[in-house]
Amino acid sequence: MTLVDSHCHMDDKQFDPDRDEVIARARDAGVERMMAIGTGNGPPDLECALRLARQHDFIYATVGVHPHDAAKATPETFAAMEVLAGDTKALAIGEIGLDYHYDFSPRDVQREVFVAQLKLAARAGKPIVIHTREAWEDTLLVLREHWSGAGIIHCFSGGAAEARQALDLGFYLSFGGVITFPKAEALREAARMAPEDRLLVETDAPYLAPVPKRGKRNEPAFMVETVRRLAEVRGTSPERIAETTTANFERLLLN
Ligand SMILES: [Zn+2]
Ligand SMILES: [Zn+2]
Repeated sequence: MTLVDSHCHMDDKQFDPDRDEVIARARDAGVERMMAIGTGNGPPDLECALRLARQHDFIYATVGVHPHDAAKATPETFAAMEVLAGDTKALAIGEIGLDYHYDFSPRDVQREVFVAQLKLAARAGKPIVIHTREAWEDTLLVLREHWSGAGIIHCFSGGAAEARQALDLGFYLSFGGVITFPKAEALREAARMAPEDRLLVETDAPYLAPVPKRGKRNEPAFMVETVRRLAEVRGTSPERIAETTTANFERLLLN
């Protein structure tokens, strides 16, 4: 079984003591490729994932400003991002979007920075990775007005109705450890109805570890638990999930 972790924060300082071992364990578990998310601690550093991608041929990167860090973005940030977006290892712009749960940046600034990055992604011809939390309606409004390309809803956490809306906009749904949580029945309903050719899997490591590792530091090797549960929910095999999510990743990001 070979898997792609389509969303992990391999630059996170929680991995500083043993990053090489974490990467080796991922490979041993069949996670042969990873997309490292490049938002890090926010601007001015936009290269935290690209640095890892330059060290390992099986690690790919994104560049972007997380909605948490929107208030740190300046014209220089976008100018630098424009250049980095052209890097062959930078597969997507992300994670970008809206987070009204924490409100670490004012909402109007979040929307402004989100739109600016959608325009940048369109110019670069790259897909986007969306982060949305307690901001579903506004996220859809912005996407409908400013985006017509491809993308991923990372750590998709809605139900069947939200899945339908995202799928209608052409998005892929990326499922993470939350799908293993006992209370996530609505999410599992969404996972059941999503078409096979729009599925992706991720860890969002070091966050959101799946059961039975819930509450611990997450790492890409743990994705096996998520894949097993997703297969169960969809009445298929983990091997089939691995095969289709790998093919989907390649179609969307490596073409
Ligand atoms: Zn996120
Ligand atoms: Zn993330």
